Amino acid sequence: MTSGLQQPEIDLVARTGAFLEEHVYSAEPALSSGGAEAQATLRDLQSRAKDAGLWALGHPTELGGSGLGLVPFLTVQEEQGRSEYGNFVFGSATRQDVLSLAAHGSDEVKERFLDALVTDGVTPSLAMTEPGVSGSDPLSLRTHARLDGNEWVINGLKSFVTGAENSPYYTVMCRTEPGVADRDAFTLILVPQGTRGVRLIRETPLLGLARGHWEVEFDDVRVPGDYAIGEPGRAFAIAQERLTVGRLLHAARWIGLARRAFDLMCVRLNERSAGGASLAKKQLMQQHVFECHAEILTTHLLAVEAARKIEVGDDARLEVGTLKVIGSRMQQIVVDRAVQVFGADGLTDDFALSAMYRVARFGRIYDGPDEVHIESVAKRLLRAYSK
Ligand SMILES: Cc1cc2nc3c(=O)[nH]c(=O)nc-3n(C[C@H](O)[C@H](O)[C@H](O)COP(=O)(O)OP(=O)(O)OC[C@H]3O[C@@H](n4cnc5c(N)ncnc54)[C@H](O)[C@@H]3O)c2cc1C
Repeated sequence: MTSGLQQPEIDLVARTGAFLEEHVYSAEPALSSGGAEAQATLRDLQSRAKDAGLWALGHPTELGGSGLGLVPFLTVQEEQGRSEYGNFVFGSATRQDVLSLAAHGSDEVKERFLDALVTDGVTPSLAMTEPGVSGSDPLSLRTHARLDGNEWVINGLKSFVTGAENSPYYTVMCRTEPGVADRDAFTLILVPQGTRGVRLIRETPLLGLARGHWEVEFDDVRVPGDYAIGEPGRAFAIAQERLTVGRLLHAARWIGLARRAFDLMCVRLNERSAGGASLAKKQLMQQHVFECHAEILTTHLLAVEAARKIEVGDDARLEVGTLKVIGSRMQQIVVDRAVQVFGADGLTDDFALSAMYRVARFGRIYDGPDEVHIESVAKRLLRAYSK
């Protein structure tokens, strides 16, 4: 949906869709196979995306991107989200890391990593969650770091570190400030891939597939003092800066994935017959079409509203918190309805839906489970009424 966009931006959305059709959908089985083949396929697609002028569209121009504003970039991300790999193929996945590093990284880390994040599109990993404690309650995290001379020494175990085997570095959430109030006790510390003491312990399969989510141990890991991202104790404030837009863009990609499921569902309904009549003529099937259409459209409109507020500097936490919940639910239910329409075919790997079904479930847990956002949106609303 491109209303309100300029013609060149509309063209970018259309070209993104065409690129996915021509190059990406057919490569998804290779991309999901993992290992060297997946990496080689991704590199090839990234190189084609660069040649097509579709690379790093939302990164600022001064950092090597195309500088699309947030509202048009949101629409581009929706289109990229039609494939779970779109964010990586088009070099968009590093946008929030790049902005965070540019704003808070030392000269040394910017010099070492920033340019490669934009030009190579190699995505860093965030190492926050830990086994044995609630990821929804980051104050309970136990990984710690201390300064020894001019070096941080990090110890701890992290889980569900996405992309850990190929990332250029880990951003590790560490407790660093003993005796300080909890929210001011944590620091984000950058640990380059290959640093001594970093061990990939186990690739944790999710819903039956091992796809790059790792348990990672940090055992007396040493990095220079200026590898802290921002001032010590500022981890939550810095993480919060990137999370609002990060969640908005997650939701954009969920909208894209849901649209693709919707397209597949509608084509199938028109093609398939049961009991002597087209499935498209059956009212229970038409209800799926209506519900999916209404949910995708309303989620998109909320995402645009949130992006507009962020662009003019307004507080959009209420909109983004709401979007995180209704967007992830919408994605899951739309894909589920499409699977239902496809019958058993929808569950086989012969069609894209089964892979979409799996990733659609993830969104309700990562970046804060639904309940955490429901609670925080409700509290915010109730506070307004208490005045
Ligand atoms: C696909 C995927 C990728 C991920 N990638 C990363 C990554 O790259 N880096 C990283 O650090 N982590 C990552 N994670 C982990 C993710 O951030 C955590 O799973 C998430 O923060 C929730 O923490 P938890 O799993 O420990 O659940 P818990 O915190 O134990 O919560 C369990 C359940 O309790 C309920 N609950 C929690 N809090 C509340 C509340 N306040 N009120 C009511 N109910 C509540 C919810 O139903 C929740 O699902 C990833 C997870 C997934 C699924």
